[in-house]
Amino acid sequence: MKAFEYANPTSLKDALGLLGSSWSDANVLAGGTDQISLMKDGIHAPKRVVNIKNIKELGGIKKAGSNLRIGATVTLDELAGNAMVRGEFPSLVAAARGVGSPQIMNMGTVGGDLCQRPRCWYFRNGFGLLAMKDGKSLVENGQNEFHAIFGGGPAKFVSASSLGPAFIALGAKVEIAGASGKRSVDAASFFKSPASNDDREIDLKPNEIVTGVLVPMAKTNDATYEVRVKEGLDWPYATASVSLKMKGSTVESARVVLGHVGPTPVVAEQAGSMLAGKSIDESTAAQAGEAAASGAQPLSGNAYKVQLVKTAVKRALLEAAKRA
Ligand SMILES: Cc1cc2nc3c(=O)[nH]c(=O)nc-3n(C[C@H](O)[C@H](O)[C@H](O)COP(=O)(O)OP(=O)(O)OC[C@H]3O[C@@H](n4cnc5c(N)ncnc54)[C@H](O)[C@@H]3O)c2cc1C
Repeated sequence: MKAFEYANPTSLKDALGLLGSSWSDANVLAGGTDQISLMKDGIHAPKRVVNIKNIKELGGIKKAGSNLRIGATVTLDELAGNAMVRGEFPSLVAAARGVGSPQIMNMGTVGGDLCQRPRCWYFRNGFGLLAMKDGKSLVENGQNEFHAIFGGGPAKFVSASSLGPAFIALGAKVEIAGASGKRSVDAASFFKSPASNDDREIDLKPNEIVTGVLVPMAKTNDATYEVRVKEGLDWPYATASVSLKMKGSTVESARVVLGHVGPTPVVAEQAGSMLAGKSIDESTAAQAGEAAASGAQPLSGNAYKVQLVKTAVKRALLEAAKRA
């Protein structure tokens, strides 16, 4: 690992002042469960690392008007154990618990989960986000069993965040602070599919910090279903997070969001709209699964993910409907 300067600010203002105009100037450090690996593996070599875990205003889970505000440095363990989150948003609890390892859940944070870099083995071995060599896609011509089946390219990695799809299904907003002030973006537009190796996969500049997430406390029924290898400490193959607005047993509106199958979480519009006016049963849930998978374009080694999407959507919907 290259030598770096370590900064330990206690205010957001000071932290922002310590960041730079390029990713090589400075990087934010939260729990470090991804950032430290990136530095050890030589994928990032920032001159300065800015620890944000001692900034009080970035922590805590509390009501803010009609939203629940979840601070960026809230750990996955705190999130999954919080009484309000457990009562209101089981889809977030399932996504956080899915991470599985007590060590990662104790150190990893909500902001870090959203900002973690892709796990694509070509990216992690220095071939860049688009994983090209001699003008050819290493993913398309190589080992692609864990890569994207949606998105169309050129990026073929999958977004690693399990919280992202759940936040999108819940209609959450990501709060961001920068030198020029604060802004917030819909969780759905926070994730980007990069067009070049120099782009980022999230809507964040090098001199910005995610400060929290605002989740509307609207009365919906939500659930996340993840398809994983048994109890393996690894990212899921495919997930579905759903949120249903119900009138009695009829769906008024539905959001269905897929995780780990595209360079960004995938909003399955067709699946959501076909559920409006219906009740959820085995048959409608299976039809929504089919609709969600209909635009998939699998690579040579990952056609199996198409079935996983259908199953994840169906089971997430049946789970959410139980809460109606
Ligand atoms: C074995 C294993 C299994 C895992 N399984 C899953 C899984 O199933 N699903 C899943 O979603 N994740 C999974 N993870 C990833 C884990 O959830 C993340 O590593 C963790 O949430 C990152 O949080 P952190 O606070 O440690 O971030 P850090 O490692 O500190 O930072 C990660 C990145 O985010 C940036 N960053 C962090 N916080 C902020 C902020 N507030 N503002 C701006 N930038 C910020 C950092 O600069 C860095 O680029 C797994 C990790 C491991 C090691």
